[in-house]
Amino acid sequence: MDVVLFGPPGAGKGTQAKRLTSLLKVPQIATGDMMRTERGKGSELGKEFDRYMAQGLLVPDEPVLTLIEKKLAEPEAQAGAVFDGYPRTLAQANSLDALLAKSKRKIFKVLALEVPLEEMVIRATGRRTCDRCGHAYHMRYNPPPSSGTCSCGGKLTQRADDTEEVVRKRYQEYIDKTKPVLGFYKERGLVDTINGVGSVEEVEARLRTSLGV
Ligand code: ADP
Ligand code: AMP
Repeated sequence: MDVVLFGPPGAGKGTQAKRLTSLLKVPQIATGDMMRTERGKGSELGKEFDRYMAQGLLVPDEPVLTLIEKKLAEPEAQAGAVFDGYPRTLAQANSLDALLAKSKRKIFKVLALEVPLEEMVIRATGRRTCDRCGHAYHMRYNPPPSSGTCSCGGKLTQRADDTEEVVRKRYQEYIDKTKPVLGFYKERGLVDTINGVGSVEEVEARLRTSLGV
C-alpha cells in the first residue's frame, strides 16, 4: 500500500509515519531524513541540500527525484511505502506517479494533516530528535525521559531549521509550492483531511479509521 502523509512542517507527519509503517509493514520514505543523512556525510550533495534547508527553502526537484528513484529501487520498498514530506511540488507529484506506475503501483490515499499555524510553530520549535533512533520528542507535549537523552540512550538535538524564523519561512514555502499538490490529488478523490490536533494516539486513530486498518 502506498500512502502519502501530507501537511505543513511540524504537523506530525514523521511521528505518525513511524506508527503507520509498523502497522502497514512498509517503510517510511522521508526525503527530509534522507537529506539530513546525506548532509551528515559531508558530501557535495549534502552541502547542496543544506544551502536550501538552512534557509527554509525547498530543495530543487531534480536531486529530490534522484533520491526517490534510488530509494524506490530498494528491495524493502517494493510492497508500498508511507511517503512523509514528499511530494512537495506538482513536478514531484507527477514524477512519483510515473515511478510508481513503472511497477504497476499507485497512491492509495493522501492523508492531509491539518494543524493551525501557531500550533505548528510551537510543535516545530519544541521538537528534539534522537541522533540514534530518530524518535522526535517535544519539550512540552512529549518530553524525553531525561533532558538531552533519548530512551534508547541517543543524544537529542534541535534541528537548525526549527527556529521560529525558519519555521515561518518553511510554512510560506508550504503555502506557495506544496499546498497546490493537494488540489492535484483532490481531483482524483484521493485526499482525506485529518484533524492533526489532539494526542498522538488520537491522531493515529483518525488515520487508521481513514485507512481502514
Ligand atoms: P513533521 O514530520 O510533520 O515535521 P513531527 O512528527 O516531527 O512533524 O512532529 C513535530 C513535533 O510535534 C515533534 O516534536 C513531535 O513530538 C510533536 N508532535 C507530533 N504529534 C503531536 C501531537 N499529536 N500532539 C503534540 N505534539 C505532537
Ligand atoms: P522535513 O524534514 O520534511 O521537515 O524537511 C526539511 C527540509 O528538507 C525542507 O525544509 C526542505 O528544505 C528539504 N526537503 C525535504 N523534503 C523535500 C522535498 N520533497 N522537496 C524539496 N525539499 C525537501
